[in-house]
Parts: sequence; structure tokens; C-alpha cells
Amino acid sequence: MPAKVLDNSVLVLNRYYTAINVISARHAFTLLFKGAAEVISHEDDQSASYDIVNWIELSQLKTEFPDPYDEWAHTPSLQICIPRIIRLNIYNRLPQRSVKFNRRNIFARDEGQCQYCRKKYPVGQLTIDHVKPRSLGGQTTWENVATACVKCNTMKGGRRPEDAGMHLAHKPVKPKKSPLLKVKIKSEKYKSWRKFVSEIPTNGETNGIHASLNGHS
Ligand SMILES: [Zn+2]
Repeated sequence: MPAKVLDNSVLVLNRYYTAINVISARHAFTLLFKGAAEVISHEDDQSASYDIVNWIELSQLKTEFPDPYDEWAHTPSLQICIPRIIRLNIYNRLPQRSVKFNRRNIFARDEGQCQYCRKKYPVGQLTIDHVKPRSLGGQTTWENVATACVKCNTMKGGRRPEDAGMHLAHKPVKPKKSPLLKVKIKSEKYKSWRKFVSEIPTNGETNGIHASLNGHS
């Protein structure tokens, strides 16, 4: 299967339909094929659940009547529609609980905004800045990295922000919940998540979520 499609985000619900995690489609398929989860399809304000066998059957039907936001994983013999939401049916098989420290989650935490000039950029034009430079003992941690555009990162060089006359838009912190949620929930592609993840403010904490949420690579 092509890697990119399998990097799509999938919302994970627990048995009580509470959003608890965001994982990759690759990880979701592993849980589905193990029988540890089912697909929740939410359309026209109605939810339906499918085990993997039923989901594959439905996928064949969907290939004839595709939705514009559908995406597909291709195996030699099958096309399987990428699920957007899954529900765990085994209580103690929650995926890991802390937000993964990686580029994607750092850029999502900072909402694609350069923390120095405050402008938003596409991911390809963003870099990761060590607030306290590594040459001065700065660590690669949530609290010491910030999203920066190439220009600001170059301008700052190997200096602390105060020594470069630059100011951070936000103090970098470790997110408690998946920063991807904030970003994804706004897009049409992930509109089915909105029923399960409500009241997400456009900035700040994601108070509407009842449990902790994690990122994935
Ligand atoms: Zn900048």
C-alpha cells in the first residue's frame, strides 16, 4: 500500500464513543484486522459500525459511488476505503497515551505559524528552531523547540531570542492532547470527527474532549 494514504489520521473512540486518540490509518488497519476495533462511518447525521469484513464489502460498493473525500488503500486484490473514525471494542487496548514528539506534531502545535514573525506558512517552508540553541546546551524537547520560517531561523542564527531581539508568539509547551485535532477538525475531509470532538476552540486548549488525545508520526 502506498505510504502516504496510510499516513492519514484516524480518530479513535473508546467503547463509549468518547474520542481518545488520533492514530495513523496504518495503525487503524492493524487494529481492525486484529478484530480490536470497528469502523464508524458517520454520514447524514447517522452512525453505522462495520467490522473489517463488512468494511471491505462496503468499500467495494463505495468504489462505484465514491464520495469526493474518500481515499483508498490499494492491495493487489482489493481497494479499501480509508476509515476516518474507528471504535475500540476491547477496553484495555488503548494505543499509547503521550503525544509523540515529531515534526508533524510540533508544526501542528504551533498551527503552522512562525513563532517569531507570526506568519503562517505551508509545512514545506517551516523549520524547527531550538529556542536556546543546541550550541548553548539547548535540548530537543517540546519546551525548547518552536516553529520558525527559514528567514527567521536564519536571522536568529545560533542566538537566544533575547540576544537576537526576537520574541516568541507562544511559550513552547508539551501538548496534553493531539495537536492534530485542532488542525484536522477544521477540514471538510475530517468533518465526521466533529460529532465526537466538539467545542474545540480555535486557539488554546481542547476542552471539549473528555479524555487525553495523542498524536502519531
Ligand atoms: Zn518567521
